[in-house]
Amino acid sequence: MSVHPAASFSRAPALPFAEWPRLEKGWVWLCGAGPGDPGLLTLHALNALRQADVIVHDALVNEDILDWAPQAQRIAAGKRGGKPSAKQADICDTLIALARKGLRVLRLKGGDPFTFGRGAEEARALMAAQVPLQVVPGITSGIGGLAYAGIPLTERGDNQAVTFVTGHDATGGPAASVNWPALAKLSDTIVVYMGMKHAGPISRALIPGGRAPDEIVSIVMSATTSAQRVIVSRLDRIEADILAAGLEPPALLVIGKGVLIPGQAAPRVTLHPFSIAAE
Ligand code: SAH
Repeated sequence: MSVHPAASFSRAPALPFAEWPRLEKGWVWLCGAGPGDPGLLTLHALNALRQADVIVHDALVNEDILDWAPQAQRIAAGKRGGKPSAKQADICDTLIALARKGLRVLRLKGGDPFTFGRGAEEARALMAAQVPLQVVPGITSGIGGLAYAGIPLTERGDNQAVTFVTGHDATGGPAASVNWPALAKLSDTIVVYMGMKHAGPISRALIPGGRAPDEIVSIVMSATTSAQRVIVSRLDRIEADILAAGLEPPALLVIGKGVLIPGQAAPRVTLHPFSIAAE
């Protein structure tokens, strides 16, 4: 059965998509869109964009990416600070209903669907409803976004362990189940997702675990987009520096010394994307 031959799209790239996995009718592809820059999509995600009948996307997904799917209906789901958010159960019900109508459903989520993205909840709901599902990973902001900000996640001999952690739990409070002082001892680099609101309490909770109050904290806002901003602060000054710089979510906190250009005392804005020209 031929579904959507690539040739039917005038802007289809000259790649062997025709032989690639098809997004079949009645299936849901749970797919990561990467942190923002459309160039960080996977080819499987692009392939799915070309074939989808309907795309259910998060607020974090760069809308430019959706322009690659002119044939698809768009449904916005997921929350963005201040605006009303779709309830998770409603999103799952929508996905199930669309698939049962026989549509090719692309569920597009920011970053990677299984990294702090509730992708697991959606996958479980689809499996329980016996809706066939394919998961396509994406570049998570805590990896790809940091690369654009010039922050190496690991470095031989210096920085050998990384932890990805959420800064707030399902109640919206600081992640109470996280043992921050223990994390401070175990992990050279700590990457905090959803940490902006509680940046102060999180930073202070790391100090009793042995982190120096003047340890570098980088804050990377809207990584890999034209709104990307990076400031370099310290554990004991983070709230004031976030406020002074006017940073807003989405942003990542990165505790650890791995910054290619070491921070100064004052917040410093770097350019996007991170690049160093040879002299
Ligand atoms: N699944 C996503 C994470 C969703 S949780 C991923 O893999 O990236 C939402 C949090 O992700 C935000 O609060 C922020 O901490 C982080 N985030 C997502 N996109 C980001 C971006 N472009 N820049 C900085 N942080 C981002």
